Amino acid sequence: MQRLFAEGLTTGTTGNCSVRSAEGMLITPTGMHPAALTPGSIVAMNLAGDSRPAEFAPSSEWPMHAAIYRTRQEVGAIVHCHSRFATSLACSRRDIPAFHYLVALAGGDSIRCAPYATFGSAELGQLVVDALRDRRACLMANHGQITVGPDLESALELARKVEELAAQYQACLAIGGPAVLNEAEMNEVFERIGGYGQPKRSQV
Ligand code: 13P
Ligand code: ZN
Repeated sequence: MQRLFAEGLTTGTTGNCSVRSAEGMLITPTGMHPAALTPGSIVAMNLAGDSRPAEFAPSSEWPMHAAIYRTRQEVGAIVHCHSRFATSLACSRRDIPAFHYLVALAGGDSIRCAPYATFGSAELGQLVVDALRDRRACLMANHGQITVGPDLESALELARKVEELAAQYQACLAIGGPAVLNEAEMNEVFERIGGYGQPKRSQV
C-alpha cells in the first residue's frame, strides 16, 4: 500500500492488498491511510471471513479477496487500487482490447471490465472472479482495477502495467481510437512473451 501510494497509484484510504496465508489470508485494514500502516495493522482472516482478534477491522473488500483465493488456487497475492487511468476507463465500463501487445501481460487478448456492484459486496466479489477468468487483471466498473499474482511483487508490477496500458488506451481513444491487434497477431505474442528477458544462468 505504501508503494502504491508513493507511486501515485492510490490516494487517501482507497485500495487494499492481501496475501494468502496458511489459515486464509492477511489483508490490509479498512479505512487506514498507507502512511499509518504498520505490520501490526494487518488482519489475519480465514476465507469464510472470520478474523483472528485484531486491533483493526479488515478491508471492506475482504469478500472479494476471499472469493478470489477460494476459486484461484495459483493466486498468492491481490492488489486493488483506484489508479487514475484504469479508474476513468472503468467508469466508462470499457474493456481494454488488444490495442497494444502488452495487454498479453494480463493473461489474454483483453483486460475485461467487471460489471458494477457496490463496494464490499459479495456480488462484486463474484463479478470480479468472473472477469478474472483466464486473466491476472481486470477493471471494476465505476470503481478501479484489481490484479493477482503468485506474490505481492508480481501483483504490484501488473497494477503498474495495467495503469500504463489504461493511460495509453485512453490517449488512443482521444485521437480517434486504436487499431486493435487480431487473434493471430496476439497468438504470436503469447508464444514469444514467455521467453522474453535475459536467459536464466545456471548456478556454478
Ligand atoms: P477499504 O479501506 O475498506 O480497504 O476500502 C477501500 C476500497 O478501495 C474499497 O473498494
Ligand atoms: Zn476500491
